[in-house]
Amino acid sequence: MPSATNGSGAKIFFDTFQNVIDGKQVTTSQTRHGINPATKKALPEVPIASKEDVDTAVKAGKEAFKSWSKTTIEERREAILKFAEAYKEHQEDFAKLLTTEQGKPLQFGNMEAGTGYTWLSEIAKLDLPEEVIEDTEDRKVITRYTPLGVVVAIVPWNFPIQLAMGKIAPALLTGNTIILKPSPFTPYCGLKIAELAQKFFPPGVFQALSGDDNLGPWLTAHPDVDKISFTGSTVTGKKVMESASKTLKRVTLELGGNDPAIVCKSVDIKAVAPQIATLGFLNSGQICLCVKRIYVHSAIYDEFRDAMVEHTKTLKVAEGFADGAFLGPIQNSMQYEKVQTFFDDVEKQGYKVAVGGKTAASDGYFINPTIIDNPADDSMIVQEEPFGPIIPIVKWTDEDDVIARANNTKMGLGASVWSSDLKEAERIARQIEAGSVWINAHIDVSPIVPFGGHKESGIGHEWGASGLKHFCNSQSLFLKKKV
Ligand code: NAD
Repeated sequence: MPSATNGSGAKIFFDTFQNVIDGKQVTTSQTRHGINPATKKALPEVPIASKEDVDTAVKAGKEAFKSWSKTTIEERREAILKFAEAYKEHQEDFAKLLTTEQGKPLQFGNMEAGTGYTWLSEIAKLDLPEEVIEDTEDRKVITRYTPLGVVVAIVPWNFPIQLAMGKIAPALLTGNTIILKPSPFTPYCGLKIAELAQKFFPPGVFQALSGDDNLGPWLTAHPDVDKISFTGSTVTGKKVMESASKTLKRVTLELGGNDPAIVCKSVDIKAVAPQIATLGFLNSGQICLCVKRIYVHSAIYDEFRDAMVEHTKTLKVAEGFADGAFLGPIQNSMQYEKVQTFFDDVEKQGYKVAVGGKTAASDGYFINPTIIDNPADDSMIVQEEPFGPIIPIVKWTDEDDVIARANNTKMGLGASVWSSDLKEAERIARQIEAGSVWINAHIDVSPIVPFGGHKESGIGHEWGASGLKHFCNSQSLFLKKKV
């Protein structure tokens, strides 16, 4: 990886990676490495943070909080925006590093590196003003929002930059200090972001720790951590909440999804079918908000399925730096094996494969995009989140019935309704139990719009002005005017 210079001329190298503790880059006695999922080859060494590193970082974060929390929101905003500009100068380097460690095709690596900037800079422009609830002759009552302390941000491997930025910006803007913990599968971009940030923030305000599977539990159990902002699987989210409950840490949990797309019979099939296939296979299906169950009205089912199949055949599966690559590899061996269990079940149950199917072993964790034709509602592929490029398409005829089937899940992250009749679409959309519901779109997120899940897809929400509140305590201030 090339080196580059940051805003002040200091060199940033994209091939050495260290933890960032109390303003300094820190090595560890033990190291490990990630794997390039397209080649299964080892990537550079990264630290394995020890329990002592955790204690040192939390102590530094707590100390830094004393003065950082007393700065004004304008001062913090200015620091974050300066950092955002420095990050932007390196956006291309981050995109390449992301493609190397995560596997996503460079066009999407560039996109995520870009949304990383957008999330950082747009959230930094938000405000969380005091609210005057009552103002009479007698008294004034104000609600204000005060920072919590040391925030730990735990990030998964599917969007290591964007999801990190979506936690860094609100945590710092509201006056907290933050320790970023990237996934052990994709530690590289997160460590580099923290390194780059150091000259914009006092020591201890923004730290990063990379480690092995011990690190997350150490952080969630630490008595001096005040908040866990977690994005990852529902299974791990429950463990995080359990651990955080011991000290009543605040938690925000952004968890798994099993998003339905309901396609009505009035849609323009040629226009909509390719979009839905794309929204199912983006990032090789490894997005919490990918379309994961497609309910198509029986009147257009065959034609719609065939149009999806036709489009799916045009999607190129290749390593991320190859020209025209649309689907890169699955990010890691564990996830690759998990996705295989869905193929095994489809085979065992004898469901029809409309396109794709099992992929021959290769140098990387590649899987062809696959559509399963009308499996049973209680099948594994309809009920569970594969987090890979395999999606079911099923039929519906009755509106109330399809709404009930779409809601018949413990998940409630996103959903979409596709129709040329906007009244019909909105009527259906308003009955879906999910944190984000789109009409004629899906995965259309924004840094200024709150994002979170219903049911087992999460607790609380992030992004948007109201997302800032999840990084704060609320305080009601009663100012009596007459004694
Ligand atoms: P994961 O839950 O395995 O890991 C997420 C993070 O948690 C990693 O950094 C991991 O090291 C850490 N971790 C693991 N065990 C821990 C523990 N006991 N205590 C604390 N931290 C721990 O998830 P993943 O496989 O990296 O990501 C895929 C999942 O994330 C999918 O289910 C997907 O839907 C979900 N996801 C949700 C969102 C969202 O915003 N709702 C976004 C992206 C991914």
